[in-house]
Amino acid sequence: MNTLIIGSGPAGYTAAIYAARADLKPIIYTGLEPGGQLTTTTDVDNFPGYPKGIDGPTMMHELKEQAERFGTEVRIDFISKVEFSSERGGVHKVFSQDGTKIEAKTIIICTGASAKYLGLPSEQKLIGGGVSACAVCDGFFYKNQEVAVVGGGDTAVEEATYLAKICSKVTMIVRKDHLRASKALQHRINKYHNISVLFNHEVKEVIGEDVVQGIKITNNLTEELSEINITGLFLAIGHIPNTEIFKGQIKMDNNGYIITESKSTITNVPGVFAAGDVQDKEYRQAITAAGTGCMAALDAERYLQEI
Ligand code: NDP
Repeated sequence: MNTLIIGSGPAGYTAAIYAARADLKPIIYTGLEPGGQLTTTTDVDNFPGYPKGIDGPTMMHELKEQAERFGTEVRIDFISKVEFSSERGGVHKVFSQDGTKIEAKTIIICTGASAKYLGLPSEQKLIGGGVSACAVCDGFFYKNQEVAVVGGGDTAVEEATYLAKICSKVTMIVRKDHLRASKALQHRINKYHNISVLFNHEVKEVIGEDVVQGIKITNNLTEELSEINITGLFLAIGHIPNTEIFKGQIKMDNNGYIITESKSTITNVPGVFAAGDVQDKEYRQAITAAGTGCMAALDAERYLQEI
């Protein structure tokens, strides 16, 4: 076959729409979480074209229908093994979990990244009920409310400063006695009077039944316990790109993100392209993922014409 797409977030479905319209007859493997990270988001208010907003699962369902309309075959299964050819024009072998072997001239990897969570049962229970890993997606729902951000890296600082413009108060919970974020980003915090940083603190429990009402935190030097009242808890403790099955077969950076050639989705393996969060740790938005999904389909089409 011509084009196999692995992963069904905005990047995967957009790649499918473009590949199908180019008559490449793509097959898309949805993975374990059909629709990707957006299916864990309630309202998506920042995707152009939805003036009243749309909930994540509905949006992904519509993207799926749009891809199917042009002849994409959607398979609800996940890929467990790949054997990439290093030859230009070679055929790549991919194996699904149920043992099906698929051979494709081009592969578009759109397996995304997963936000890290603390793993507390009280936190897991409230994902979508005030616990979020994306301030840009969900921050607006906490307008003029008090929120907390966990983490001390670049993402945490970006999330905190983003939220400080919307929320009345932002408390950063940092487990070390310093921030890991770059100095340039750290300076941004000082510009906001409503951000406070609690160093050497960790979240022990998220309080609330259906919605977040607060958090129990502990000072990891003194072991003193305290509570703060918040309505939103934002985790910014890193993402893990979903690239385990590609290890050793494609070029990745130290964090496991697939490396693409600048301004393209071309990887170091001929005929293999990567789009969306799996190759982007900077922007991580549905619209940017969709944009690179489009690019990947165009890159694949061009490659197929040239081989
Ligand atoms: P990082 O891994 O850099 O930072 C994660 C932060 O979360 C650290 O402060 C870490 O603490 C903390 N943390 C990790 N696990 C836990 C836990 N279980 N409990 C409490 N705290 C925890 O991730 P980022 O997402 O911030 O950044 C990822 C990469 O993306 C980096 O290379 C970053 O530079 C880059 N990036 C760049 C941006 C930019 O340039 N504008 C924007 C966003 C990201 P500790 O320090 O103790 O390990």
